[in-house]
Amino acid sequence: MYYYLILTDACNLCCSYCRAKDFEESDPPERAVAVDAAIPSELNFDLADLYRFLGEDPDPVLTFYGGEPLLRADLIREVMENAPPCRFMLQTNGLLLDRLKPGIVNRFSTVFVSIDGDERLTDAHRGAGVYRRVMDNLETIVGNGYAGELIARMTVAEDTGIEAAVLHLAGARDHPFSSVHWQIDADFWGDWSHRNFARWAEESYNPGIRRLVARWVREMETGRVLRWYPFLGCMADLLAGRTSCLRCGCGYANYTIMTDGTIVPCPCMVGMREWYLGRVGAISPDRLPAVEVGEPCTSCDLAGFCGGRCLYSNILRPWPVEGRRVVCETVRNLHDALSDALPAVRRLVDAGVVSTEDFAFERYNGCEIIP
Ligand code: SF4
Ligand code: SF4
Ligand code: SF4
Repeated sequence: MYYYLILTDACNLCCSYCRAKDFEESDPPERAVAVDAAIPSELNFDLADLYRFLGEDPDPVLTFYGGEPLLRADLIREVMENAPPCRFMLQTNGLLLDRLKPGIVNRFSTVFVSIDGDERLTDAHRGAGVYRRVMDNLETIVGNGYAGELIARMTVAEDTGIEAAVLHLAGARDHPFSSVHWQIDADFWGDWSHRNFARWAEESYNPGIRRLVARWVREMETGRVLRWYPFLGCMADLLAGRTSCLRCGCGYANYTIMTDGTIVPCPCMVGMREWYLGRVGAISPDRLPAVEVGEPCTSCDLAGFCGGRCLYSNILRPWPVEGRRVVCETVRNLHDALSDALPAVRRLVDAGVVSTEDFAFERYNGCEIIP
């Protein structure tokens, strides 16, 4: 099982699509939920309970999460030194990666670093100087021997040209990323009424995705399957004829441990009382209840491909129905682009130019594969 461990709610950035939204006006979500205001801002439960809980899982994978988890580098070290056998991953904004010694960093099987494209775009979303500092830190960790998967985790919005942003992170020779993942800033906050999302999706994002898929397949003709997660994960399933439940795994393969030890399905559902599933120390991993995505996803014709996109959005519905329809159109566009490419990809597999193993990826590793 996969677990996010929230070490702190604090963060050293105020990104435009995240904490900066707290300072904007927002429309209420369609569904109001009770949120627990008494969650400690820093991890505050007995780590012995965590170790016991992880010890009861035959194959635990623990991802350090925040806020910014590297603000609690002390806790990362403590858990990695004392937890039972476990695989570790990190989701970070990358600014403080130099706080961990190589002996710790090199134990992560995957490091997700938030970065949105080139320097101008990243700094516009995340703050002046962020891109350069993150890149310097990545150069340092790779120089110190980090050889695990390094995933560029992009958030894309109306100022993103998806093709240029992905190609920047994936293409430049001096960039260290082994994989690129992106997620659109959509249906997550009550901001539909002051966004220009529909026009951007139709005129920029959806056509950009179709061009990117064509490039991805052209690159395959040289024998290389680029690790662009939204394409990789979906194409792996199309090739295998498999359907998928919620692709991030939240609520059945991936759970979040809050700072007080309470377990919820997803890191964005911290404090949502109705979805408290138990506490480390009081429940064992095999007793964690499954949480399912509801309508309209269950009766959607794209459900087997999409999986429901996002449990949090499905529950809260931060955007009105017209906005959600536009988001679902981005899913349909991705589905159609990849389905259209499937015969060509199959031919490359049959001809031995690439193999199905080239599409293997770690399911539920934290990539929200339907952007
Ligand atoms: S670094 Fe992450 S947690 Fe911090 S403000 Fe940016 S997106 Fe949010
Ligand atoms: S396309 Fe939309 S309605 Fe269909 S499963 Fe995905 S999120 Fe749900
Ligand atoms: S896609 Fe939605 S449910 Fe899954 S981790 Fe992200 S916010 Fe949570």
